[in-house]
Amino acid sequence: MSLFPEDLQSEHSLISRSLATPALRSDQWLSVLSMARDWVAGNTIILAELEAALQRLNSIERFFAYPGAALLDRLHARLTDRDEKGFLRVAQNISTTIISQKYMADINAWDAVDADESAPADRLPQAINHVANKPYFEVLSIVPHMTSRWQHIVQQTRAIRRVEDEFVYETVIVGNTEDALTALLLNPSIAAVVMYEGFSAKSATDNPLLDAIGEVANFSKIKDEGALALTTAQAIKKVRPELDLYLLSDREVEELAGDMEASVFNRLFYQVEEPLELHLSILEGVQKRYKTPFFDNLKRYAARPVATFHALPIARGKAVFKSHWIRDMGEFYGANLFLAESSATTGGLDSLLEPTGNIKEAQAMAARAYGADHVFFVTNGTSTSNKMVLQALLAPGDIAIIDRNCHKSHHYGCVLAGALPYYVESFPLTEYSMYGSVPLSTIKQALLTLRANGQLDRVKMVDLTNCTFDGHIYNTRRVMEECLAIKPDLIFLWDEAWFGFAHWSPFLRQRTAMGAAQVIEEYLGTTEAKKAWEKQQQELGDNPSDEQLLKTRLVPNPDAVRLRVYQTNSVHKSMSALRQGSVVLVRDVDYADVEAQFHEAVFTHASTSPNLQIIATLDVARRQMELEGYGLVANALQIAFEIRRRINSHPVISKYFKVLTNAEMIPAEYRPSGLSDVNDPNVSWTDAVNAIRDDEFLLDPTRMTLTCGAAGFDGTAFKVMLADQFNIQVNKTSRNSILLQSNINNSRSDIALLIRVLLKISMEIETALKEGNEVRKAAFNERVRSLIEDVPDLPNFSRFDERYRSDPSHNTLHGDIRKAFYDAYKMDECEHIHLESDVIDERLKSGPELVSANFVIPYPPGFPIMVPGQVITAEIIEFMRKLDVKEIHGYDKSLGLKLLKRN
Ligand SMILES: *Cc1c(COP(=O)(O)O)cnc(C)c1O
Repeated sequence: MSLFPEDLQSEHSLISRSLATPALRSDQWLSVLSMARDWVAGNTIILAELEAALQRLNSIERFFAYPGAALLDRLHARLTDRDEKGFLRVAQNISTTIISQKYMADINAWDAVDADESAPADRLPQAINHVANKPYFEVLSIVPHMTSRWQHIVQQTRAIRRVEDEFVYETVIVGNTEDALTALLLNPSIAAVVMYEGFSAKSATDNPLLDAIGEVANFSKIKDEGALALTTAQAIKKVRPELDLYLLSDREVEELAGDMEASVFNRLFYQVEEPLELHLSILEGVQKRYKTPFFDNLKRYAARPVATFHALPIARGKAVFKSHWIRDMGEFYGANLFLAESSATTGGLDSLLEPTGNIKEAQAMAARAYGADHVFFVTNGTSTSNKMVLQALLAPGDIAIIDRNCHKSHHYGCVLAGALPYYVESFPLTEYSMYGSVPLSTIKQALLTLRANGQLDRVKMVDLTNCTFDGHIYNTRRVMEECLAIKPDLIFLWDEAWFGFAHWSPFLRQRTAMGAAQVIEEYLGTTEAKKAWEKQQQELGDNPSDEQLLKTRLVPNPDAVRLRVYQTNSVHKSMSALRQGSVVLVRDVDYADVEAQFHEAVFTHASTSPNLQIIATLDVARRQMELEGYGLVANALQIAFEIRRRINSHPVISKYFKVLTNAEMIPAEYRPSGLSDVNDPNVSWTDAVNAIRDDEFLLDPTRMTLTCGAAGFDGTAFKVMLADQFNIQVNKTSRNSILLQSNINNSRSDIALLIRVLLKISMEIETALKEGNEVRKAAFNERVRSLIEDVPDLPNFSRFDERYRSDPSHNTLHGDIRKAFYDAYKMDECEHIHLESDVIDERLKSGPELVSANFVIPYPPGFPIMVPGQVITAEIIEFMRKLDVKEIHGYDKSLGLKLLKRN
């Protein structure tokens, strides 16, 4: 029985079910429950179909500890007995227990499926010692034993439980690698894998998802051969790197232990050894992820009687709780907040600026979790993380190729560092007044132009946003490999403020900075990489033209590359950290050379009074993701697919609202796979793999651009309405859209609320249009037309004024933004001109040119349409004049545009 039954495709797409694999389980339960309800209601149902649905359910449930074979047998017996009410009752009980996760905490949930059940004789074997309120997980065992032995193995591991164990686990058993990988994709509760050497590779069940993930995550089909345990372990690490792996072997484990590659295993055991040792190792492995060194210490600190004589009156809260005037603050936040405040860096606490104790340890654990070599905790947001990285790695005069549309911290980072930004443009999505991301050809062209000018040696960095606010994901691997082929020591800064969660999706991880860096690092060590480079050298010859280089998928020279990758990540935007919790992730082979600079940058930017609670949540967010991130992220993705599907297929809602698809957000030239919509049920496996692995851009499904222009709302008005009338908060807006975002916090009820609200609004529009007179209808239509069609062209970056270009004779874009920034401090060198003034038009026509003194950043769209020193063109003025937003940073309407005088 295939995991992807034919009937899946009529409703869901392969790609959506691959990205959110655990959802396959709820699909099957929904299908069984709906048939059972029909049966009870007396509708004609074909029992053979219910039987088949039950079989499909079984083919998934065998990868979960609960409900287990015995309970499923009891469900099946109701069908055999033609007891429709009993069948529905048992099915409902089991599925509710699964959804509520009651079986994780309550021993009774394991056999309480049917209150009417009067025959205790067929009660299940008790889940002995299944003590409530201990964190629960599952262990996957891959075994060579006959299936008849499996239940015995499950019982044995239960029998080993001890009261003093910190956690409790159940065992799931499979007999081969393919089933093991399937189990890991379906079952988010699995936290450790135990391999009993001697198992086989192939499953009796066909699962095309495994081929897909093998191609995306770079592991080949696994065959029965000598090193099966090792290749299986390596594949598992590509899918769920956070898992602990144990190998039980009857070979000479001492010898295996000396094998470098065997280090993927947490521990090797000789098969006949004490099962208790294995049990303790499993618990210790989970404990290593559960541990939060900083948070644990902070809790201990808060519990100690401490008298403070430092400058932080709020610490311990005495001045709060004794106060007649601010006691409500204490009551609102609770005592722990104040007990956990301190300005000390001793007594069990550590210093963020110079960590030597538990912060250092917490950062090392975060590095392990996020797939980095080094991690820095930052308590002032990714705004600060970006400035730190730019300052640490760039010196005055260095050139950085930067997405002009990036977050303002990068522009200001260049001002601070004195680096010269070479702005590159994203493709525009004019219809929606937003930008996409920067095409690789644009980035390569920038490098080649600089090379032609003899300035390539000054180019230090490529700095891009992945994913963008609106969800455009780069092909990080391809971008880095092709750029490194042109300049092998380039540093990459990927601003992944939004995208931190992607590490816990085996598919999306490939497109993160750290994920791609790991793949590139592995690839560069292969003979394949060397051959590919030599072949390319032969084909391109010694002096390839720019045109050739632009159209070739370049590969770097493995011997020349210095792989230097940095990623910044607003943990607070996609994980359970308090606002401003951010991390810098590092995978840089030359890190030792810049470490001192890096610390200087930390000293420059980090507060000397970092917020302890933010540090604690960075620690805890890491724990959560390492233990349940896979399931949480799959759920966030699933919710996004569901919202997209419900809105776009709803007969009424879809007339006025639409969630934009890949096809609408990414021009076809960047989607060679042809993938137009992640919910398209006609996407084949090949398309799905090609899209995820190869397309130049992919859309993050969790970022949903909902157009509201056809409903007659501009983005801001619609956002305000949703917040004020319906308690729905959304992310950003554009002229005719809002951005919805699903994250690890969302549940299915949120979908229901959103759909209900959109339906209500749609119905009101329908009614108004039906009842309204012609004048009102015409007015509505005109408003819609204006919102959808009257969209100003987005202005490109023009150029820096000659004063700020080191070499104006060359047609290069980079400029000295810092000099321009400080020139604007000199009042007598600046002037103000009103935007609407004729002077502007005259000067655009006959000069002297207008040169911006400021960053001018309208929200939305939120990117600088002017930077200091930039020549202002007619397009920019036209865009400014058409802008109908209130918030424009760097522009004071009463004064006009601030310009640097031309002399
Ligand atoms: C939000 C954001 C930042 C800034 O992060 P904070 O944590 O809010 O300081 C930087 N870059 C991008 C792309 C962002 O979306």
